Amino acid sequence: MESILKVENLSHRYTSTWAIRDINFQIERHGVVGLLGSNGAGKSTTMNIIAGVLSQTEGTVLINGIDKQKDRLLAKRQLGFLPQTPPLHMDFTVREYLTYAAGLRYVEKKHIPKSVDIAMDKCGIAHFSHRLIRNLSGGYRQRVGIAQSIIHNPALVIMDEPTNGLDPNQIIEARKLIREIGEQHTVLLSSHVLNEISILCRDIIMIEGGRIVFSDSMDAFNNYLKPQSVLMHMDQMPAEHALKAIEGVQRVQYLSNRQCRVYFTGGAEITERLIAASVRENWRLQEIQLEKSLLDDVFKQLSTQNKRVN
Ligand code: ADP
Repeated sequence: MESILKVENLSHRYTSTWAIRDINFQIERHGVVGLLGSNGAGKSTTMNIIAGVLSQTEGTVLINGIDKQKDRLLAKRQLGFLPQTPPLHMDFTVREYLTYAAGLRYVEKKHIPKSVDIAMDKCGIAHFSHRLIRNLSGGYRQRVGIAQSIIHNPALVIMDEPTNGLDPNQIIEARKLIREIGEQHTVLLSSHVLNEISILCRDIIMIEGGRIVFSDSMDAFNNYLKPQSVLMHMDQMPAEHALKAIEGVQRVQYLSNRQCRVYFTGGAEITERLIAASVRENWRLQEIQLEKSLLDDVFKQLSTQNKRVN
């Protein structure tokens, strides 16, 4: 089977130093894949090259088997791009803008109105089709940005930090939409926040200092993580077995008769499971605090080990 995206020996330098070096990975199925890395790691450079807005110094990018350097136009038809700042035109209505975006993506003229309708429906913006983009909230503008990235029904959608700058409610809505899009397309999204990737993505590619340090499923990554901890204050302290019955809990450390530290593996959504258990079992939770993410430690560990699963 042809990979939807195949990146081979990709390297780029803007100046004399390499921004990314020898990046290799491939994606074979639909779903959301996360590109995780701290600032300056090389995420945008990688995304911009794949999206065709930057030409690499070395290496190959194949989208559905098409080399974007050899057949630019055909490769561009297979991919949608949501850059960090969506390229919106404030004085267009949503329908006008998406009609324009469809033209840019070579949708045949006679199919444009239908493509616009489908993208608006998928992104939940049909009721705003005649509204000027400048009069939309940040969350809805982001939906329009996402709609333009899927307007031509591409195999691959690249999203650069798509939830950056949104408020918490908008983030939840945007994640839901991205997950839905991942059911019909391959989505490659970048973030510097582990939690974001762990909530949204099936697979994770971690990049640090311009090199891939980890590339595998989210489950494999979670197993690799050291247990993290949550500090809890409760009036009715539960027994250890009650806490350990909760998915992800590894170990409990009792600090006082009202305070304990729970070590866990997996994503930060464990706090939701602990809160739900507290309500159910009447532990009278007063405070819950996720102790600082170990992402920096993980980066350090992975960078030094240079664990490559490619
Ligand atoms: P990220 O998206 O992970 O924050 P970038 O891909 O933007 O990382 O940057 C990777 C490296 O390339 C950084 O060291 C950054 O300073 C450098 N870089 C990015 N864009 C340019 C540019 N236009 N000119 C020179 N150096 C750049």
